[in-house]
Amino acid sequence: MKYKSTRGNDEYITSAEAILKGLSKDKGLFVPVEFPVIDIDFSEMVHMNYKEVAFYVLKKFLDDFSDEELKDAIEKAYDNKFEAEEIAPLVEKNGIYFLELYHGKTLAFKDMALSILPHLLTKAAKKLGEDKKIVILAATSGDTGKAALEGFANVKDTEVIVFYPVNGVSEIQRRQMITQEGNNTHVVAINGNFDDAQRGVKEIFNDDKFAEIMADCDYVFSSANSINIGRLVPQVVYYVYSYIQLLRRGAIKVGERINFVVPTGNFGNILAGYYAKRMGLPINKLICASNENNVLSDFLSTGVYDVNRKFTLTKSPSMDILISSNLERLLYEISNHDEGLIRTMMKQLESEEKQYKITPNMQKNLSDFYGGFATDDETLITIKKVYDSSNYVIDTHTAVAYNVYEQYKKETKDKTKTVIVSTASPYKFTKSVLDGLMDKNYEENEFEMIRLLSKITGLDIPKPIKHIDQKPILHFTECEKQEMKTVVKDILHIEKRK
Ligand SMILES: *Cc1c(COP(=O)(O)O)cnc(C)c1O
Repeated sequence: MKYKSTRGNDEYITSAEAILKGLSKDKGLFVPVEFPVIDIDFSEMVHMNYKEVAFYVLKKFLDDFSDEELKDAIEKAYDNKFEAEEIAPLVEKNGIYFLELYHGKTLAFKDMALSILPHLLTKAAKKLGEDKKIVILAATSGDTGKAALEGFANVKDTEVIVFYPVNGVSEIQRRQMITQEGNNTHVVAINGNFDDAQRGVKEIFNDDKFAEIMADCDYVFSSANSINIGRLVPQVVYYVYSYIQLLRRGAIKVGERINFVVPTGNFGNILAGYYAKRMGLPINKLICASNENNVLSDFLSTGVYDVNRKFTLTKSPSMDILISSNLERLLYEISNHDEGLIRTMMKQLESEEKQYKITPNMQKNLSDFYGGFATDDETLITIKKVYDSSNYVIDTHTAVAYNVYEQYKKETKDKTKTVIVSTASPYKFTKSVLDGLMDKNYEENEFEMIRLLSKITGLDIPKPIKHIDQKPILHFTECEKQEMKTVVKDILHIEKRK
């Protein structure tokens, strides 16, 4: 397996190099030069557990890692941190399947990849003779920061520093971060908004002089964001695993095609589904569900990606995004690897035009996908509808997916078996879920609402947040937005140098 940039055509690198680099120098994303194929019978895979499937898939994509390295990473990632024994359980309600990806420590699907990325990253560094300590820097609007902290906590030879906007995250999210354990974790509140935090982190990343000072002290920066191929590949696993679970319970026959509905923001999760399809997993449609920030559903129907629109804060905040970075990897595939065209389109997107149009041929190659979106009102109504009909509680992101699936069924009459990819626990978005269920506007504090949701629905409160209001606070650092670099220096004990 070799990897290359979506925007360049000469340099071929190994998966370890791609994971360590994150982003290509030409700002393209690393993609596999060719897709590996599933080369054993699904009937033979039926008895595999999550870790075994993970090993099979990861070995295909990351073939420069040894069996021992991959097995060690998988063991460390998918252990009893996950509250569900199956890691990614598939639940049936009224003939529809929900793939629950939220049983990890942060209660959202980002744990699926961020619990293994640190191990892949440190092994890649070792393999490539990079002996400096890896410093992960992240700005967060709530979810990614906590998932990165959990993933990297106590991972040897790493430090993880997360900046969050002091008034820009929910109380639960803040508590999740400031109670984070681990001797290499650092959480800093900045006096500013998410954009300030993000800008500060980018500035540190792009400061060559600072990188030199860091290197002198045996540190190197890296990032854990979703464009790293080391986050994408572990997400392919649960698509294969859900197919196996359906086979195991006799819900489908070997070779039968199924649909997946994916609540989508940065296009990472659904792209992993597309990669699974390219490996030979029998997938009919990949249904891309957006909220009111519906750039993607417009793109899928018109072939025009147009960011000239209002940005809306919705009740499914992890999907509030206008530029879906991972879409570039799909463009690369549907253009039959036309790097020049990708460069042109990305330039148009970054220019004042803020849009690009794909060619008719590319649009034909989009037939694997269907796109739709749901409004906030539709989202809350869907939460109630699903609960009333099947006693099953879903979060706002999953509700967006469910609603779009209903639109799809109505429009196409497609009866293919379908898996809704459930990306967050209802307890992660308790207020909206309660509001939807009870058709009210709750104003209690967040801890109170958690207890209320449990009382009303009988659904157990997940362990990671159960006693979070009593957990000791371990992180107190606050800083101004222009002090971020100084704070990083202090945390890493870097002497003041000229
Ligand atoms: C990140 C996230 C998404 C969006 O996933 P992408 O890979 O960015 O498309 C959806 N739901 C939840 C709960 C998330 O945290």
